[in-house]
Amino acid sequence: MSYIAPIRPETAEDFTSLRRYLHTRPELAYAEHETSALVASYLSDWGYEVATGIGGTGVVGTLKVGPGEGMIGLRADMDALPIEEATGLDYASLNAGKMHACGHDGHTTILLAAAQQLASARNFSGTVRLIFQPAEEIGGGARTMIKDGLFERFPVDAVFGLHNWPGIPAGQFAFLAGPAMASVDMAIIRIQGRGGHGAKPHLSIDPVVIAASLVLALQTVVSRNVDPLEAAVVTVGSIHGGSLPNVIPDSVELQLTVRSFNETVRQAIRERITALVTAHVASYGATASLHYPTGYPVLVNDAAQTDFARDVARRHFGAERVEQGLRPITASEDFAFMLEERPGSYLFLGNGDSADLHSPRYDFNDAIIPDAARYWVRLVEDFLSTNTRAEARS
Ligand code: ZN
Repeated sequence: MSYIAPIRPETAEDFTSLRRYLHTRPELAYAEHETSALVASYLSDWGYEVATGIGGTGVVGTLKVGPGEGMIGLRADMDALPIEEATGLDYASLNAGKMHACGHDGHTTILLAAAQQLASARNFSGTVRLIFQPAEEIGGGARTMIKDGLFERFPVDAVFGLHNWPGIPAGQFAFLAGPAMASVDMAIIRIQGRGGHGAKPHLSIDPVVIAASLVLALQTVVSRNVDPLEAAVVTVGSIHGGSLPNVIPDSVELQLTVRSFNETVRQAIRERITALVTAHVASYGATASLHYPTGYPVLVNDAAQTDFARDVARRHFGAERVEQGLRPITASEDFAFMLEERPGSYLFLGNGDSADLHSPRYDFNDAIIPDAARYWVRLVEDFLSTNTRAEARS
């Protein structure tokens, strides 16, 4: 079976084919050229005003219907990951070392299916803007689009996005007001000692021993410096140094991921890690350099817009389709940048019992596309209904 993009997708089967086509052609951050060209061509076929090249490969489709003044934005991400696919699917990636392992092929397809339905039904009064962004996984495509004037050129009153979620039953909707996903920063520490013969450690400053001690010391940042009622993560995910058993290396490098749910904690952790690394390493007579680039901020869902989004799911799909008890997620998401600019909400959609996100065995669940698209359509129609929900937009 070959997978080609349907000429004019319309039915659920067409959109499943489209999703699988996109799955065969994964493109990495800021290189989503084929994907964004396909998105742009569908949107213009359906009558959207299309702007391309926003923040690199980003696309914005605008559809105005009636005299309504409300404006709503919906966002999907388009990029894939540098992972070698191991699903064995007949529509597995054709691009070696690249894979849609996070379901952004599904998110893009869902938003296109919604685009098609919104344009054919035209059952709202106002402006809908569909935002297809590059580089969610790495590179902060949302921030790049914002810097490129996204919300000045294409204003919205509120913005919404969704992510499929393995482990939540397929097609269930989940919402969380307030801080819903963690901030993420990276810290790269280089311990500079003095190498030498492994048999004569007293003539060296051994960065391996210092690194081992530092890994343990770093565990005190969360346990002793962060309020026990707050959540945070400091993980040393990479440690490299040396290559032979009888040689003490000159230096060792550690790489950390640091996560939290509010800016105060995030800042406090940064200060503690910086102070601790310097002092701890100095106590052994070595020096350290610390590179601590800022990643994605905490994703904060607006309370009123989250209530509205949850209400749309309840009213159109039934209360039993809304998952209860979602807790904040320590993964991060660059939609957080959009939510810093405009009120809105990021929701989660059950992907069922699939392999986890970023696994080489993960696959997006096509069965959830029709309801997810219908959900976007209802959200837009309710947001831009003629008897406007003014309180939802205030
Ligand atoms: Zn993702």
